[in-house]
This record gives sequence, structure tokens and C-alpha cells, in this order.
Amino acid sequence: MSEQKTGFVWHELYMWHNTDGHTLFLPSGIALEPYRHVENPDAKRRVKNLLDASGLSAQLKSIVPRKASFEDLTRAHTSKHVTDVKVKNEQGARDAGNLAPLGQGSYEIACLSAGGLLTALDAIKSGDIKNAYALVRPPGHHAEADLSMGFCIFNNGAVAARYAQSVLGYKKIAIIDWDVHHGNGTQAIFWDDPSVLTVSLHQDRCFPPDSGYIQDNGGGAGAGFNLNVPLPPGSGRGAYLSALERVALPAIERFKPDLIFVACGYDAGAFDPMARQMLSSDTFGEMTALVKGTASRLCEGRMLLYHEGGYHAETVPYFALRVIEELADIRTNIEDPFLMAAEALGGQDLQPHQTAMIDQATINIDAIGT
Ligand SMILES: [Zn+2]
Repeated sequence: MSEQKTGFVWHELYMWHNTDGHTLFLPSGIALEPYRHVENPDAKRRVKNLLDASGLSAQLKSIVPRKASFEDLTRAHTSKHVTDVKVKNEQGARDAGNLAPLGQGSYEIACLSAGGLLTALDAIKSGDIKNAYALVRPPGHHAEADLSMGFCIFNNGAVAARYAQSVLGYKKIAIIDWDVHHGNGTQAIFWDDPSVLTVSLHQDRCFPPDSGYIQDNGGGAGAGFNLNVPLPPGSGRGAYLSALERVALPAIERFKPDLIFVACGYDAGAFDPMARQMLSSDTFGEMTALVKGTASRLCEGRMLLYHEGGYHAETVPYFALRVIEELADIRTNIEDPFLMAAEALGGQDLQPHQTAMIDQATINIDAIGT
């Protein structure tokens, strides 16, 4: 077991998904000066660069992704959605719908993004690696079965969960989503499915604007198997660790998954332009260690982390470095130069109004596994 490395998925084409023609997240135009889309390659490319510069990527098991097939994608998406995206892309549409930009080749790259997770799962299943980090792009967690949304074309994590079940034989999957935005797509896809536990920690009503409430717990056979922890803006280390320790991890302990996924966004980071939370690299590392401890107790350490949002190109690389160091049990000699600035922000400790929100979320745990 000790010989097993952490797998690392990367492909240059992930950086070629072209979101130009937008400013922040809207199409540029006569009243909006052209600038950059916030979901551009910079933050993710700089993650790869720091992993290389630190020497960490050389100590990981490199995984070359394959493209998800139509069959792979339609385990989580309707065939209409997959076909629509392909046709729109061929016709030169700039958007797949609901603020999900398309550039030339984006359909193919989105297939490669989802496929990166599948390739990582193959390596976990075969025993080649103990766990994996997929540095993929475009992200996935807002995409629903029949629609793209919020920079996401296909729901990479959902496609991977279905593949893990249908092809690799894993029965129960737990997905923790700590991207700062609500994992609405993952929630919707597994809404009535008790075999996939979805837990989203997000900033209360950040995006989508009317989504991610505590009382949204799944329906039908899946009732009780979707948890939301909408944290107030201004949440830091104390709130996030409490949400994990009091809601997400106890829920997963009860669920007893065969595999744990983390939809690993970094936009709850202290300097992110798209949200108002305050996490530091060390907190991302602590969160990873907690989930890893749970995974080692419940499912022999089988974990797949995949990159979602995170838009502050200067700091995101240090967050990802800490997460992957923790995952791989390797510390590089790189210190996060922004750590002190993030930790010094007021309100990093758990605040009473955050506790009140987390208290409410804990009442939904009891239904799991009973
Ligand atoms: Zn996000």
C-alpha cells in the first residue's frame, strides 16, 4: 500500500477551453468593455506551474486523461443535452446555455474534462494509485442532467459517480462539494437516488441565487440523501471545519460509502472575486486531512478530488498545493506567502450566527443510514 502514489490528472487542452468574449461572467458588448472571463486558464495553469516548481508533481503518478464517451456522459446527462452542446459548439455558439461559455473545441475539451475523472477512477480501481486529484477544466458541479450552467458544460463528478457504479462496481458514492457555490447540478442529478450522498458546503445564496437550502434533502427514494450547509458570507476556518465535523463527515460515516469524491473548488478562498468567504491554504489542507481520515476509516482511503471553481489566480495555486500535499502525504518546502494575510482576517473563528446555521443543518443527518 505504501508504494501507491497519489494520481494526478492534467492535460494541456484543459487550458485551451476558450472563454474569451466575456467580462467577468457576462458577454462583453457595447455597454460592457471587453476584458476577461473570470473562468479563464490562469488560476488552473498556475496550479500546475506551482506543482511543477515545487517538485510535487514529479512525485505524483501522472494520469493521461481519455475523453468521456457519449455513453459515459449519458449516464448522468440526457442524450439531448449532450447532442445539443455538440451541435451548438459546431455551429459556433458562444454559450452552451445559462452562463456556460463555449469556444472552439470546447465540447471535446469538456469530454476530456469529465474523462479525466474516469481515467483516475480506473487507476484507483486497479490499485495503481491510492487516491487522485484531477486538475480539470471546464468545471462541472452546476451542470444538470439536461442543461449547462455557471461555467459548467457537463457535470464531471456526476458522470464519474455513475461510471464508478455502472462500470467499476462501486455501490455507494459520497460527494462533498466545498466549492463556494451550491452544487445544484449534482444535487439535481442524484435527487431521488439513495446510492449517492451529496453534501454541499456553500455560501448562502451566492450562485445559483435561489438554491442550496437546508431543507432541500432529496426526494423519493433519495429523500434524506442530499445535504446542504449554506454558510453565511464571511465564514472562515471555524465555520468550515465545524460544517465538516458536525454535518458532512458524520453524514458520510452513517452512509458508509465505497468511494468519496470531493468537488474541490477554491472560491471560498480569502481573496476570491466571486464570493465572500475567507479560507486560507492551511484550512484547505485541514479540510482535506479530515476527509482523508474518514476515507481511510470507511473505504480504504479511496478518494477522488476534482477541481471546480477558484478564480484568484495568485492564491489558488497555494490552496491546491496544500490539498495535494495532504492527499499525497508529501510536504514540499513551499510556504504560502499569502497565508498570514488570510489568517489575520477578522472572524476566522466560528461565530454564533454561523453556529446557528450549522445547528439547523445537523438535524438532517439522522435520516441517513437508518
Ligand atoms: Zn464556484
